Amino acid sequence: MLRSSTTAWASKRASHMQYRALGKTDLEVSVVAFGASPLGGVYGFTGPEEGKRAVHLAIDEGINFFDVSPYYGHGLAEYRLGAALQGRRNKVILATKCGRYGANEFDFSAHRVFASMDESLDRLNTDYVDLLFAHDVEFGDRSQIVEETIPAMRRLQELGKTRYIGVTGFPLRTLIDIARKVPVDAILSYCHYNLLADDLDAVLAPVAESRGIGMINASPLHMGMLTEQGAPDWHPAPSEMREAAKSAAEFCKHRDCDISDLALRFCFDYPKVATTLVGMATREQVLKSLRAFEALADPQIVRKVRAIFAPVFNRFWSSGREENQ
Ligand code: NAD
Repeated sequence: MLRSSTTAWASKRASHMQYRALGKTDLEVSVVAFGASPLGGVYGFTGPEEGKRAVHLAIDEGINFFDVSPYYGHGLAEYRLGAALQGRRNKVILATKCGRYGANEFDFSAHRVFASMDESLDRLNTDYVDLLFAHDVEFGDRSQIVEETIPAMRRLQELGKTRYIGVTGFPLRTLIDIARKVPVDAILSYCHYNLLADDLDAVLAPVAESRGIGMINASPLHMGMLTEQGAPDWHPAPSEMREAAKSAAEFCKHRDCDISDLALRFCFDYPKVATTLVGMATREQVLKSLRAFEALADPQIVRKVRAIFAPVFNRFWSSGREENQ
């Protein structure tokens, strides 16, 4: 995977996107998906016009799955994505979330779920979404999620405001416990399958597969850590993990390879998830992600990078309520 100019590469290519079924739903999602949290400034400032062009380019290149949340930039990401999708809504599978509205702001009540859905539809400029997720369920009361939040989301499905529903979060056991208690169509997990972690495969995949629940893998770059610029300041990973990621990025650079290309390709190759959500806000990132999808990774470099990561592999941090760890 050589560091050639992305634009030169892009001018020579044709789209070869692949699609996979999302669990038992009738949604066929592109293997590379567009995570819209960066459109809300989660990773720093991004220009709105460039964000719109990135969304248009992604659609033109066959990316059909877009994920957002009211939490990303306090509505900004939904608003920008909605504006970018004007006239293109029917070309995409659109997911948003409810329940999380700030770093420490959660409300999983039915009342809030209903209001949140209407606010999201308004910002997204559409009258339905394809998927509605309860966002970061480990911050909620598990029995409320099961008995109140999910039933409210099913009611929204009956009303035609969302086609399917699901849950997102960090601790896999909490996601599994909820899915065992109440049926969900999809589970979105992040930072549990990439070059720094793979327990999604042993822990979540068997349960999801046996129940026909669609799996979505988010944060293939470990929330920006597997990039040349490194993790953002707010990243919750332990410092040893950051250091290992820095060493691996340096090693790749000396081999004329970009660690992000390697990391993305590793995730796109994992067949048990329907799609991998990459956080993007620029055309350059869209093209880089597509290039990673189409290029082959050098197995020797992958082996060496995995050796660098061995001491910190599958190291996690706590997220949410104590009883949900
Ligand atoms: P990520 O691992 O995709 O990393 C995003 C960072 O990498 C951004 O800084 C982006 O600018 C950069 N980047 C993107 N493409 C790149 C490339 N090809 N080369 C180098 N750098 C690149 O992390 P993420 O954005 O947190 O996750 C992806 C998406 O998944 C989110 O946008 C969101 O939609 C979803 N997500 C959901 C949850 C949840 O529901 N709890 C949690 C995490 C992520």
